[in-house]
Amino acid sequence: MHELSLCEDMIGLLQERAKADHYKQIKRIQLEVGKLSCVEPDALIVAFNAAAKDSIAENAALKVNEIPGLGWCDQCALEVTIEQRFDTCPHCNGYPLEIRQGDKMRIKHVEVI
Ligand SMILES: [Zn+2]
Repeated sequence: MHELSLCEDMIGLLQERAKADHYKQIKRIQLEVGKLSCVEPDALIVAFNAAAKDSIAENAALKVNEIPGLGWCDQCALEVTIEQRFDTCPHCNGYPLEIRQGDKMRIKHVEVI
């Protein structure tokens, strides 16, 4: 379950930041999860609650925004929406497409107490 290690990394990062910025508790975290990132939002929330125990993120509310996948088709010179990493272009069926958006997970906003 790689969602758990993702959450552990994320909380580790937040602990570091908390030390630098002198806050003790995180109230809310907003995440952006790309559709192509292979992260399951529901699994992520479960993993987060487990990983956050006894950390500064314990009891923090996690909000996950799903970001659609965008790829670049050279042939059409267009950005196209894709559901999976190896989808072909919906217009010309060509590929490969260069991934432009949606293959990452990132912290968008953190609210602290
Ligand atoms: Zn195309």
